[in-house]
Amino acid sequence: MIPITDIQRQILDGLPLLPITRIGLRETRGLVLAEDVAASGDIPPFANSAMDGFAVIAADIVDAPVELLVTGVIAAGAMPEGAVTSGTAIKIMTGAPMPAGADTVVKVEDTQDIGGGRVLIVNGAPRGTAIRAAGSDVSDGTVVMRAGTRLDSPQLGLLATVGVAWPQVRKRPVVGLFSTGDELVPHETAALQPGFIRDSNRLTMRALVEEAGGIVVDYGIVPDREEVLRSVLGHAANTCDLVVTSGGVSMGDFDIVKSVLTEIGGVDFVKVAMQPGKPLGFGHLDGTPFFGLPGNPVSVFVSFLQFVRPAMFAMMGADYLYPPVVKAEMQSDRSTAPDKTVFLRGFAEQRQGRHTVEISGGQQSHMMMALSDANCLIVVPVGVGDVCVGDEVDVVMFGGRETRTRKEVLGG
Ligand code: AMP
Ligand code: MG
Repeated sequence: MIPITDIQRQILDGLPLLPITRIGLRETRGLVLAEDVAASGDIPPFANSAMDGFAVIAADIVDAPVELLVTGVIAAGAMPEGAVTSGTAIKIMTGAPMPAGADTVVKVEDTQDIGGGRVLIVNGAPRGTAIRAAGSDVSDGTVVMRAGTRLDSPQLGLLATVGVAWPQVRKRPVVGLFSTGDELVPHETAALQPGFIRDSNRLTMRALVEEAGGIVVDYGIVPDREEVLRSVLGHAANTCDLVVTSGGVSMGDFDIVKSVLTEIGGVDFVKVAMQPGKPLGFGHLDGTPFFGLPGNPVSVFVSFLQFVRPAMFAMMGADYLYPPVVKAEMQSDRSTAPDKTVFLRGFAEQRQGRHTVEISGGQQSHMMMALSDANCLIVVPVGVGDVCVGDEVDVVMFGGRETRTRKEVLGG
């Protein structure tokens, strides 16, 4: 058996980078920036008010309450017409440009409209209050984002802010998927004939690929017949940037993914020192990276997180590839195989500021229910074997469940 980290190294070593292109920012979610981006101008571009209130001169309001003459009003999106002079104020809205002369904004809550074009400043404010200086977020020329950053909502917002409408990114990987197995029928099948099961892996893999930023080409269910497999593999390798399959990679008589690809060459079939997910095929088909994942549904998920998703990220040019790991305190006892890295399906949560984790249900690799109830994988490294209540373990987070139910919020 080969340690996980060795396989991960081997996988990353041979991966091609996807080509660089420019794409409209709207379409780049989940892609990876391929250039450093510098701000061409200050953000904010001009000094503006952080509050709805009155632009004043700080020296005028030291002895608040004081009355000031209101000489105008500035809306967001408008330009100030006059300047603030001693004894006067200009009403100003959040985001509106600061008028000349003013050095402070008093928020509306600290004022009182006393009519006659005058305002009572009830509470004073130190000089500079509630003003957002030009460049206070980002100053002109600052590198705001580095090549290698994966774009999600905050990054898209920042690129939009600095006016990068067509960022250079690496293209979205096209990932060919199929399931193998004569026992499989489409998941839409309502009534199962004896001996058949629904193909779940293709749905799991599709979601994983899309979450990782890829585009799926779905080749369906491929029967355990060599000529069919050869033809689909050939087509997928020519069409896609990456091909991922499930099933047919272990020791069975009909594990034809392994036999066919061993014959074609370019793909290694290894036993990884991990559970679930021991059998794995990895290599290149006509230059296209290929992953032959095991058939067991939980193995598919775990192997995808450990190998395929990082490979997709690497091909997309991302700096960071592997899912985040946090420390958590075990709330369950469990004996595991000491010769493998075991990934138990668990549910982690924060209690009194620290993470606790418990096993989320049955742990065999066909058991989807405990996976669906999990939000993390509990890592039991090689050589450990038994884990007990109170032990500190690493957990690989994969799904943040929201906290606080509607009922908790609304009460009753
Ligand atoms: P295999 O690796 O092909 O021997 O498959 C291992 C186990 O996973 C068997 O019990 C298969 O029936 C099951 N399996 C294989 N492919 C799928 C799939 N696409 N969806 C659900 N279960 C599968
Ligand atoms: Mg099979």
